[in-house]
Amino acid sequence: MTKLNGVTLQTLLENANIGIVVHSWDTTVVYANPVALKLLRLTHEQIIGRDALDPQWRFIDEGNRPVQHENYPVSMVKRFKAPLNNEVLGVIDSNQLKPSWFMVNAYPELAHKIEDSFIVVTFNDISEQKHLFSFRSIVDNAQDVIIVTESANIDMPLGPSIVYVNKAFERLTGYTQDEVIGDTPRILQGKDTDKHELAKIKQALLNKQAITTTILNYSKTGHPYWLSMSIFPLKNKYGDVTHFAALERDVTSEKYYAEQLESKNLSLKNIKENLEKIIHEKTQELYDANKKLYHHAYYDALTEIPNRRSFTEQANKQLSRAKRDQAVILLGLIDIDLFKKFNDNYGHAVGDQVLIAVAKTLYAFFRQEDVFGRYGGEEFAFCILITDEDQAYDICERLSKKIALSTISLEDETQLSITVSIGASVAHVDEKTTLTKELNNADTALYQAKSSGRNCVKVNISTR
Ligand code: GH3
Ligand code: MG
Ligand code: MG
Repeated sequence: MTKLNGVTLQTLLENANIGIVVHSWDTTVVYANPVALKLLRLTHEQIIGRDALDPQWRFIDEGNRPVQHENYPVSMVKRFKAPLNNEVLGVIDSNQLKPSWFMVNAYPELAHKIEDSFIVVTFNDISEQKHLFSFRSIVDNAQDVIIVTESANIDMPLGPSIVYVNKAFERLTGYTQDEVIGDTPRILQGKDTDKHELAKIKQALLNKQAITTTILNYSKTGHPYWLSMSIFPLKNKYGDVTHFAALERDVTSEKYYAEQLESKNLSLKNIKENLEKIIHEKTQELYDANKKLYHHAYYDALTEIPNRRSFTEQANKQLSRAKRDQAVILLGLIDIDLFKKFNDNYGHAVGDQVLIAVAKTLYAFFRQEDVFGRYGGEEFAFCILITDEDQAYDICERLSKKIALSTISLEDETQLSITVSIGASVAHVDEKTTLTKELNNADTALYQAKSSGRNCVKVNISTR
């Protein structure tokens, strides 16, 4: 035996960081070192000389079952005269309900005479390491897929190498642990796996960084599924990244529903846009139709100037304004002289041309605020405010001359001249003034004009 100069056995035992109890062959405790006393929570007096079977403590196994006396480490060693290695035992003493867990080793120190032999039991407290569950079983049985690869050879064709997969991996991919250990996770990728995402993952691994992404993977039978994965580096106690762990979840159905939702939203958006377009078009059509209808209702189709209805409405408004301002109003009726002869001699179309020519002259003659229109077949009317009754005749005369200037040229270069007769009524507007009365007065004046040989103006000035 190696001689350990200066090392005394007693000091060694007292300082060893492990519980040591020495039993004599009859199992009586003959020595317990300080660590043993501490672990067993006993004083020197409480243990020395006691039998191993003393009910100060009892043992339980890892299944929490009581250990029979004959199976106590000391009994086993005595019975088989052989060492006992790494036995895990729970010790319950009278002071505590929860067991302390010890890793126990024991061996016989056999003497020539068996009763002089000793049994040495050593033990240390593993309560902290011994959990009620194992992390390994959590990882093995997790519903999410867990893959661990080495951190080396990231960009090698067959790297990185898989070192662990859990049961969820086997269920999802159809590969067994044995099939994939040592292989690369690339076996799970396929033609529609996004190359851009893969490049991002590879870069993260090369940088030894964590990354979270969603990519398409394929099962052993080629069935595609979407994986949401979170990859993170695992470090050893020196801080070196040795492995990568990936936590993955099949999100195919979530992705499917999200896409469905997106496409539904898109078609809703399209429907909305189409509806908006249709509404816009219909609104425009309605607006155009209304405009046409309005035009139709208020304008004469042939001459494009206001019709009788429009004239009457506007003239009434003009009259209301005149009442308010106590103004003088001039209402005139224009009748084309011997119009019938245009129709009879040159045809209806030429008659129409004459009507259009007169309308154009009226349009050019009157101001924005004046009211005029086609009142009947070849009759026109106007209703304007004047400042002085004396202006009335002049205005009618000027209008008559303007119309007379608008000749019609036929294809055979015949020039047709137009003359009109104008009968007008002038009134200093008051409460009694009505459009009907003014029209009647104007009509009487027109009759006088026609009777006087046509192409002339007659003005009927109402006395106040
Ligand atoms: P007077 O000098 O007495 O007014 O004679 P006139 O021929 O002008 O009067 P009359 O009332 O006898 O004739 C009016 C004619 O106008 C009758 C009608 O056929 C014609 N006429 C009415 N409306 C239109 C139209 O829109 N186009 C054409 N071409 N002729 C029309
Ligand atoms: Mg007439
Ligand atoms: Mg006429």
